[in-house]
Amino acid sequence: MHEAAFASSLLRIVLEEAGKHETAGLRLRVTGIELETGALSCLEAHTLKGCFELLAEGTAAENSLLTVRARPLSGYCPACGQQVRAGGRSFSCPLCAGGSVAWEGGHEMKITAITVTPFPGTAPGEAKAGGSTGRRQGPEGRGLKP
Ligand SMILES: [Zn+2]
Repeated sequence: MHEAAFASSLLRIVLEEAGKHETAGLRLRVTGIELETGALSCLEAHTLKGCFELLAEGTAAENSLLTVRARPLSGYCPACGQQVRAGGRSFSCPLCAGGSVAWEGGHEMKITAITVTPFPGTAPGEAKAGGSTGRRQGPEGRGLKP
């Protein structure tokens, strides 16, 4: 299943990112993740969320809120001579209905935000995140909402 494989990669990245911001006395819990997906990524948001919820159980991202935003597809229509945006599931030009639009991208997926909050009363060595997450030390705050 496409979504399950993607949810698993997503979880790994999110836990890794959160881990970078942890220090000896600080354990972080992931509370929110914002994801932007291209129109052609074929990811079904509801399925993805369900898979992610299951996989995140027992990790620092358990009960986090995953928000998935689909980015509309854009491309260049040679007939109209301008940039157009795809409407709905149609791949013809929304202005002239021509079928020769050169669509750009659409397969990209981007994590736009990860929200973390410290675990209350956490102590070092209490890690319960899955084995594959490195607990790397790094500068705090970079790219993460407080
Ligand atoms: Zn056109």
